[in-house]
Amino acid sequence: MKEYSYIINGVEKTSLETVEVFNPANKELIGKYFVSTIEDVEEAIENSKIVQKSWSKLAQEDRDNYLMKIADVLINNKTYLAELITKEQGKPLNGPGSNFEMDACIGWTQVPASLNLEDEVIFEDDTRKDILQRKPIGVVAAITPWNWPLMIAIWQIIPSIKMGNTVVVKPSEYTTIASLEMYRLINEVLPAGVINVVTGDGKIGAHITAHSSISKIMFTGSIATGKRIIEASKHNMARLTLECGGNDAGIVLPKTDFNSIAEGLFWGSFLNMGQTCAALKRLYVHEDDLDICVEALSNLTKNFKMGDGMNEDVLLGPIQNQMQFDKVNALIEATAKNPKAKIIVPNPEVSNDGFYIPITFVTGVDNGDAIVDEEQFGTVLPIITYKTLEEAIEKANSLEIGLGASVWGNDQKLMEEVADQLEAGTVWMNQHGAIHPFVPFGGVKQSGYGVEFGIEGLKAVTVPKIMSYKK
Ligand code: NAD
Repeated sequence: MKEYSYIINGVEKTSLETVEVFNPANKELIGKYFVSTIEDVEEAIENSKIVQKSWSKLAQEDRDNYLMKIADVLINNKTYLAELITKEQGKPLNGPGSNFEMDACIGWTQVPASLNLEDEVIFEDDTRKDILQRKPIGVVAAITPWNWPLMIAIWQIIPSIKMGNTVVVKPSEYTTIASLEMYRLINEVLPAGVINVVTGDGKIGAHITAHSSISKIMFTGSIATGKRIIEASKHNMARLTLECGGNDAGIVLPKTDFNSIAEGLFWGSFLNMGQTCAALKRLYVHEDDLDICVEALSNLTKNFKMGDGMNEDVLLGPIQNQMQFDKVNALIEATAKNPKAKIIVPNPEVSNDGFYIPITFVTGVDNGDAIVDEEQFGTVLPIITYKTLEEAIEKANSLEIGLGASVWGNDQKLMEEVADQLEAGTVWMNQHGAIHPFVPFGGVKQSGYGVEFGIEGLKAVTVPKIMSYKK
């Protein structure tokens, strides 16, 4: 049984403690990883601090060349890493699955390598000239989740190292193996210590984020952990980029042709079995359109096979872990006790070998019901009816969370009017979750702080410095 090591200063390290990792599609053991100790965390951060001094002095072009080498590593190992993601995380190889995740890793490495964050003259008159420069922050802590384990890690790490920071990364305890393999391969083309990797659960994460030598924390995960990280940053006043998920609403305008939007709604909701921060998790449709909406989505569901994602024809996999499987099932069971709720399962046959929950639509529920209000992060879509668009907008905006939202229809002007009123970091029209490496992405309200991607994402891993000249 293969055992996977963490990496400090370019050296693969082991410890006395290991964690066994099981494939969520069939519960078979796929490997073990070594768990870092607190001493390892100290060593990793200390080393990152030393290496940052030389790494930050490299010319921008040199660091960008390293990014291109990382992109080549990801291209050359795409199949190997995609298969590991499928075995550990569960998303299928095909469709919007682990090959797609690897393509995203490559794109989100190549694009930052091509971007330039220039110095700006921000003021000039007869007496003075002021130039704003963007300087590295120092050591960045990257704390990553289990849903898109490699892609989200790339989002955090690549801009950070491009801008002259070094990184201490801790992958989710649920998806450590594929992450460690990616870091091992990347470390082969990078100077030692630019990316240090430690493993473990929230205790290790908490030790990193509260450490006095951490200057920036990049985090994606739950709101509860995001709030703990805000607390931790009181100790080091680290800058924060927090992406704490969403419970994204979609509003379908009255009388929309569901056949033309059903596929977009389906994958907007069930991309990665709904375990996506910006997945469509609440759908608002006009009361006259409910039946046709359920019919269109149910018919479509029958086209997609759920199972072990290593099989070519499978496009829907298991839920990633027992905790998440229990959480989603508990929400379905609670909903089943609601006499007004109707639970629709178009394709109920799934294997009992893994954490499978068939695609489930729920009607007769409303805001205030847990299945609507909570980020259920699974293969369930509540469909809520509205009488007026004002009511739909109010319900869409009613939660203390706002990552993405979407409006669906044929009337462009009306879609824009609705989109303008939605409280979310991104509002998509006739699509959902369509992110892009050039386009800033982040949430409002308790979905987090700051944005990632594009030039704005690069600024987020720097500190501004003013060079002020007397004339
Ligand atoms: P989590 O927030 O507990 O874990 C995310 C990462 O934070 C992991 O690496 C974890 O080890 C680390 N962590 C945990 N406690 C920490 C602490 N005190 N300090 C520093 N790091 C810490 O999320 P989870 O347990 O993996 O999932 C729980 C819920 O979060 C899910 O049900 C889902 O609703 C949501 N979630 C959201 C996203 C997203 O993309 N926004 C991703 C995964 C999970």
